[in-house]
Amino acid sequence: MNFEQFSLDPRINAGIKNAGYTTPTPIQQQAIPVVLEGHDILGLAQTGTGKTAAFMLPILQRLTKGPLRKVRVLIVAPTRELAEQIAQTSVTLSKQMKISTVTVYGGVGKMPQVNALRRGAEIVVACPGRLLDLIGEGQIDLSGVEVLVLDEADHMCDMGFLPDIRRILKHVPAKRQTLFFSATMPDDIRGLASDILKHPVTVQIGMIAPAETVSHALYPVPDGLKTKLLLTMLQQSEIERALIFTRTKRRARSLAETLGKSGYRVSALQGNMAQNRRQEAINGFRSGEYDILVATDIAARGIDVASVSHVINYDMPDTVDAYTHRIGRTGRAQLTGEAFTFTEHDDEPMVRAIERVLGSPVERRKVDGFDYGGAFVQTRPASQGYASRQPQSSRNGGQNSSRAPQNGSTRAGAVTETTTPESKPAKSRRRRPYWRQQGTQA
Ligand code: AMP
Repeated sequence: MNFEQFSLDPRINAGIKNAGYTTPTPIQQQAIPVVLEGHDILGLAQTGTGKTAAFMLPILQRLTKGPLRKVRVLIVAPTRELAEQIAQTSVTLSKQMKISTVTVYGGVGKMPQVNALRRGAEIVVACPGRLLDLIGEGQIDLSGVEVLVLDEADHMCDMGFLPDIRRILKHVPAKRQTLFFSATMPDDIRGLASDILKHPVTVQIGMIAPAETVSHALYPVPDGLKTKLLLTMLQQSEIERALIFTRTKRRARSLAETLGKSGYRVSALQGNMAQNRRQEAINGFRSGEYDILVATDIAARGIDVASVSHVINYDMPDTVDAYTHRIGRTGRAQLTGEAFTFTEHDDEPMVRAIERVLGSPVERRKVDGFDYGGAFVQTRPASQGYASRQPQSSRNGGQNSSRAPQNGSTRAGAVTETTTPESKPAKSRRRRPYWRQQGTQA
């Protein structure tokens, strides 16, 4: 199976080569022929599946004919980072073509975007707020749009962009092709999709669950020992490039500081940062200047960094969807990755919810030689049949993993259950579960 089968323009095939793709991913195999035929698409696919090229390649094929220097394709995305990544994919794939791609998002000066639009562009990748600004000021003409792409629609909904999307739709011709992508399908997203898509072909990649190339493990640990445990794991395991998630901006900042003081090449990424500092952190992680990026969910949305070997949930995410999206940052495009989650006693309900989505229990691991201060008292052997969905490495307690150290020091294969230390009654340790807390996110 290769890209030749789609009979794309030779300049696009050159772009595919330029991007280094050799084999279409499953979503590309499914979606490209359907988009080339002009159908609307309802794509249920998470980031990391190759969905950007799945819509971009047939879009470029359309742009090989017809007028130039007018906006014919509008791609709407929830975050600046995702918009930049989509634009970058467009530029890479269209390198041999005379196509211009312009990004439109807030937090940066408006004039360069306006000037780029005035020079003429076929593809606009936009975040809703700034796009509506420019529409209101008459700086962008969307009357010639032939293809509308809504990417990460569920995130746009989470971020409160749904009314903006409906406003934008009023400025785009009704006769168009619409490509709609979402990793999850809550009711309001389903409603929007059915309002704006015409006889869509549904393209679904696997279950709506974390990528199958990722193996998952839980590390039960009390909150006060998380940093120590992380430092021990970083020393003991082959964690090459890690994206670490914390619950709050403050925790991201202070954890990055601690790791930096311990000699790690690390940067923080959180919502309060100015756009140029955010971009510097992302670019630094992408280029290898930093091995570790500590981020909050919102700040990390949509960031695409190839070859993240580990996603570490220093704090349990608020929702199963957030877990899916965090984990989607590793195991991308057929590479394998590992997802480690630190769990506290009160995280158990969320653990069970994640296990339900994964369809199997997740391995509980204990780091040998680490002083848990008596928090772990009960272990049982790792023979309790892990996920058929999980790679071999994790089904076997991680001991066959190519990333596992030869002495197996951090993959003891012991399944550990957390129990409350006997000296502290459960009640005194209780705090409100994260998923019920408000306003703790970046
Ligand atoms: P996406 O789901 O669009 O965010 O893509 C995830 C990652 O997969 C990006 O880094 C892409 O460059 C990469 N990618 C997309 N298509 C392919 C392909 N056919 N082969 C290898 N990598 C790909």
